[in-house]
Amino acid sequence: MTFATLGLIEPLQRALETLGYQTPTPVQAQAIPAVLAGRDLMAAAQTGTGKTAGFALPLLQLLAMEGPKVASNSVRALVLCPTRELAEQVHANIVEYGEHLPLSTYAVYGGVSINPQMMKLRKGVDLLVATPGRLLDLYRQNAVKFSQLQTLVLDEADRMLDLGFSEELRDIYAALPKKRQTLLFSATFSDSIRLLAGQMLNDPLSIEVSPRNVAASSVQQWIVPVDKKRKAELFCHLLKKQRWKQVLVFAKTRNGVDALVEKLQGLGINADGIHGDKPQATRQRALDRFKASEVQILVATDVAARGLDIDDLPLVVNFDLPIVAEDYIHRIGRTGRAGATGEAISLVCADEVQLLSAIETLTRQTLKRVDEPDFVPDHRVPDTDASGQVVKKPKKPKKPKVSGSKKNLGKWVDSGDSPVDATPVVKPVRKVPVFNTGPRKRKP
Ligand code: AMP
Repeated sequence: MTFATLGLIEPLQRALETLGYQTPTPVQAQAIPAVLAGRDLMAAAQTGTGKTAGFALPLLQLLAMEGPKVASNSVRALVLCPTRELAEQVHANIVEYGEHLPLSTYAVYGGVSINPQMMKLRKGVDLLVATPGRLLDLYRQNAVKFSQLQTLVLDEADRMLDLGFSEELRDIYAALPKKRQTLLFSATFSDSIRLLAGQMLNDPLSIEVSPRNVAASSVQQWIVPVDKKRKAELFCHLLKKQRWKQVLVFAKTRNGVDALVEKLQGLGINADGIHGDKPQATRQRALDRFKASEVQILVATDVAARGLDIDDLPLVVNFDLPIVAEDYIHRIGRTGRAGATGEAISLVCADEVQLLSAIETLTRQTLKRVDEPDFVPDHRVPDTDASGQVVKKPKKPKKPKVSGSKKNLGKWVDSGDSPVDATPVVKPVRKVPVFNTGPRKRKP
């Protein structure tokens, strides 16, 4: 199968040739003809499967072949993304794909001045990539109109809900023409997103190119058990011992990111951090420098987990496990992309056993444990398995107390006896948090 047999026009084929894309990926093979035929789409595809081209190529073709010239302050197609970085990246891909087409494209997102964006929108834009909050600001200031809108794409839709964009999305939908094509893309699909899709999409074609919620098989994964207070020390030890070259590290909190970056820089290691508290320009610069291999270690909160495409990234380290199990898939999806292989190592302490168990349940695998000599934890990480259970070892029976001279005549347990409660105590695991459609905290 070739891009030509999928019905793509010559200027797009030429751009793909330049990029070295020879064969459509499975999601592209299914999405491209369906989008060209005007169908709504609900696509669940693993990260790194080429889903951006899956919607962008046919969208560019439809815009080039059909419909009126774009009016001032109008847009003809809109791609919504959850984060600024992803909006930048999707737009950069679209620019490459549309190189030989006479279309205008642009990306708008928060954290940078709104005025240049308003100026740029004056002439109208064929295809606009946007984060929901900034788009709504622009709409409320009459800088953008949707009367000409023919296609809406929601990229990483579940993440948008998770980041608390549900109200913004509702307001945006209310402003869009009812008659339009809608494409919903997401690496993972929670039940709430399926519900939303049912309300938004019209007779959609469902595409699922990989089993639900399964991490890319090209990524080798394992965990290293460690005591919480020794995580940074273990990270530095592994970095040196394994001679890691380029590593993307995920930490749970902004403070956690800053502390690790500070420690690494203090040791003379070339590290930088990105999280929601940093200005957008600083975030983008750190990411660009990491992509260009000018920074060896990038430490990030989950703001960086989604969609970022870094060529040949060999290793992702979870310094902390994510609170939401689905984020694990997105984090490790930063490596092993586009057919390459990668490694994902998680440093896990006893406190995180429930998170580990939720990840194993979601990904239907028991992660291999590799003890690092000298770092075997004092606080053991209880055993887990993919059935969602933390297997607790039976407690040792207590020795009966002997008070004063009087012997306690209670039942003695001989070391050869099996204790009364020898069956392992199996506790149900806390449920994996379900993505909530209500407003929540923005900026991870
Ligand atoms: P995505 O899942 O859209 O982020 O794409 C992941 C990576 O795969 C990006 O670096 C794309 O440039 C690359 N890619 C997408 N489609 C193809 C293709 N058909 N052949 C080769 N590389 C591709």
